[in-house]
Amino acid sequence: MKQLEDKILREGVVLPGDILKVGSFLNQNIDTTLLADMGSEIARLFDGQGVTKIVTIEASGIAIAAAAGIAMGVPVLFAKKHKSSNVDGSVYSTVVHSFTHNEDYNVVVSRDYLSADDHVLLVDDFLANGKALEGLIDLVDQAGATLTGVAIAIEKCFTGAGDRMRGQGVRIESLAAIEAMSEDGIVFRS
Ligand code: 5GP
Repeated sequence: MKQLEDKILREGVVLPGDILKVGSFLNQNIDTTLLADMGSEIARLFDGQGVTKIVTIEASGIAIAAAAGIAMGVPVLFAKKHKSSNVDGSVYSTVVHSFTHNEDYNVVVSRDYLSADDHVLLVDDFLANGKALEGLIDLVDQAGATLTGVAIAIEKCFTGAGDRMRGQGVRIESLAAIEAMSEDGIVFRS
């Protein structure tokens, strides 16, 4: 999505540790025009696929998931992160290793909000090593729901995780796909 790529080139900041900071338009201060356009683009990509629910993970996935949910007219469910492993039987739960905090979290959704009838589109802001996505796919599997596909705002292709998961048959669409990045610049997949 050219509009997102241009914004990343103008305002994204590459930090040590292969982190791209996008706080000026996505992760803290939100460019709502761009966000709405990203939601519409996700809706276009998954039009006619029978999606009944969008699932994301708190916190940074929620805004883009909501934009996509509004554009598609479907509800949005966000998985919650808990530090304690104390989860009860009312939730589906999995463990995710956080890329940004280098910690393990329990990630849970209430069994009330995800069912075997659901056709799920997973949405997140970044795809790096794929741990968040694998955790969300585990929750979808536990519910017996169907995974329709994945929409990611910014994929860091150089980790290989997205292509590995595509190889396993998961449909992953990225609005911006970064092939390489350093303080000297960012190269997108063409
Ligand atoms: P993964 O689980 O794929 O390794 O990482 C995905 C999660 O880590 C996303 O939910 C996102 O919040 C965070 N993340 C990964 N890479 C970046 C990055 O370069 N910048 C920011 N802001 N967040 C990232």
